[in-house]
Amino acid sequence: MSEVAELFSSMVFDDATMEARLPKDTYRALKKSTEEGTPIDLSVATTVANAMKDWAVEKGATHYTHWFQPMTGVTAEKHDSFISPKAGGKVIMEFSGKELIQGEPDASSFPSGGLRATFEARGYTAWDATSYAFIKDGVLCIPTVFCSYGGEALDQKTALLRSMEAINREALRVLKLFGNDDVKAVRTTVGPEQEYFLVDKSVYDRRKDLIYTGRTLFGARAPKGQELDDHYFGAIKPRVAAFMKELNNELWKLGVLAKTEHNEVAPAQHELAPIFTTTNISADHNQLTMELMQKIAKKHGMVCLLHEKPFAGVNGSGKHNNWSISTDTGVNLLDPGKTPYENAQFLLFLCAVIKAVDEYQDLLRISVASAGNDHRLGANEAPPAIVSMFIGSDLEEILTAIENDTGYDTKQKEVMRIGVHTLPKFSRDTTDRNRTSPFAFTGNKFEFRMLGSAASISCANTVLNTTVAEELKQFADTLEGAKDFEKALHDLIKKTIVEHKRIIFNGDGYDEAWVKEAEKRGLYNLKTTPDALAHLLDKKNTDLFISHGVYSMVELEARHEVLLENYCKTIGIEALTMIDMARKDILPAMSRYSGLLADTIKQKREAMPDVDTSYENETLKRISSLLATAYRAVRQLEEDTLTSKSITDTAELADYYKSTIREDMTALRIPVDEMEMIASAKDWPYPSYGEMLFSVR
Ligand code: ADP
Ligand code: MG
Repeated sequence: MSEVAELFSSMVFDDATMEARLPKDTYRALKKSTEEGTPIDLSVATTVANAMKDWAVEKGATHYTHWFQPMTGVTAEKHDSFISPKAGGKVIMEFSGKELIQGEPDASSFPSGGLRATFEARGYTAWDATSYAFIKDGVLCIPTVFCSYGGEALDQKTALLRSMEAINREALRVLKLFGNDDVKAVRTTVGPEQEYFLVDKSVYDRRKDLIYTGRTLFGARAPKGQELDDHYFGAIKPRVAAFMKELNNELWKLGVLAKTEHNEVAPAQHELAPIFTTTNISADHNQLTMELMQKIAKKHGMVCLLHEKPFAGVNGSGKHNNWSISTDTGVNLLDPGKTPYENAQFLLFLCAVIKAVDEYQDLLRISVASAGNDHRLGANEAPPAIVSMFIGSDLEEILTAIENDTGYDTKQKEVMRIGVHTLPKFSRDTTDRNRTSPFAFTGNKFEFRMLGSAASISCANTVLNTTVAEELKQFADTLEGAKDFEKALHDLIKKTIVEHKRIIFNGDGYDEAWVKEAEKRGLYNLKTTPDALAHLLDKKNTDLFISHGVYSMVELEARHEVLLENYCKTIGIEALTMIDMARKDILPAMSRYSGLLADTIKQKREAMPDVDTSYENETLKRISSLLATAYRAVRQLEEDTLTSKSITDTAELADYYKSTIREDMTALRIPVDEMEMIASAKDWPYPSYGEMLFSVR
């Protein structure tokens, strides 16, 4: 076996390991439970726990943890050792079935949006046996969900798993109509491409804004940014290559299918893409990827920035969520297929996605909403805040032919009949060109490109799964009762195209003309997180989640609260950081610098009365004026930050941060950045954009 093949999944209690280490009947019982979603017997859990512990101890583990994903967006763990006292002052290593199945972290400080106040102070964790246990830093990690005692989800994963059940249920109904009786399960699959920045640790340590907020709050543009596109896919620097090598090794050990790595558009920006896998596992793996990126960067004297917009003026970082639907028999339901029959089924699934994206644009926007991602969406780089779909010209021609009852090209005069005619083969090129679309069909999957780099992928995929499940349900309801299936299918597809084609846009998503056109089409343009969140509790959205059992009303209200709170806190911290930087470092530095200029003018004039001091004079004048402007802006920001404390309603507070505080922050940044442009580098208190972006050599 090659070295990598041997390394791969070596730290995972995966299927092969379980098969080798568990008694046959235990292995079979566990597999049955995970496949059918039935509860695991305590006797089975006890045997599994023991085998897991023995395996982990052999690999050097001393502790175990229930690893979960609270609504903070990062993962949480609380370590317990395996030791258990034994007579004679000795210990033995123990791990019970109960400890495997359920945990009770005293995790009352995680955001719950008031859920725990209403129900029960504590939460509990429960093993998600569909995701394998693994060893990280000598700790056996058990992937779990995190709930309140009333069963309300306090994490990101519970809803994701429920949404996978919903789409499984409805997709199976549709597949039955096409006679696919052999299919027992349908799962969505995801391959998330992760973007990130690497900066040298010594530079990072001198930037309070990066330390406290993950992004630069001040900073004049560097003379060189991404204008030349010379970084994109460029040769990888040795230090970065060493980092990537170690990252890959560590990810492979954990069974993460790290596949592609390259430099991205902005200087210091990179990307890692894994091979796709089942959605909940992919979400776990993406969390591990982000965690390891940060840890391994430190070992190489660098810091990994996962923020969506660390630097103004160069591209931000996102996550491209490649999403598809697959059967347990290995069929990708978003692959057009070769026969008329496969084509018909594909077109129906395609229509379900089109209808879902159109009817739930607002939910898709909400699923990627955060203060950080607001900087990216709508800026001239990432997909715009308007949700639309790119399907490529070939596929659009076919939909148009169906809509108008015509042939799909001029050569074929015959009217396009679903289930009778074969679709032409799409070349990858025509389905893969548009990089400005937020939601693009790329041949056999959709690429949802609005996700921010720092957030969990769970929320976006929960929305995708649930909304498509709803459309499949409606389709199944219509078709199950049909007398003439072929005709009903044709009519349904045609109707869906007519009613929802407004969401399809194959043009340039960055173009100003599109904003106007989208408005004409009645599409949402939800620019900020508060604008988007205002729609989370719209009736159509709460009906959707409740009817599919994905979120209850209280869970939705709690999430709404947590997301708004998070938005406010993020901007609040940024405002305080700006005040701190301005008051403690920037204003004093520029005041001193003005003094230096004034002294120089005086000295020069004493030495030579008619000497030209225009540089010093004009710089002194400009710095003094900017200093006064910046000072006024700090005072304003301080005053408005104080005012914010008296606002008790979270939605109102979020609006206040969105407008007043953000405006104050911009008003402060402008004079400060201008001072940086004209002041001497030696007297500027922070590393410049140039030093940060080109710090890793
Ligand atoms: P591209 O070059 O167009 O970006 P790739 O084939 O390289 O396409 O895939 C990009 C990402 O999409 C990878 O993470 C890949 O694993 C993922 N992907 C490919 N097929 C699927 C699928 N059926 N479901 C989910 N993700 C997929
Ligand atoms: Mg990409």
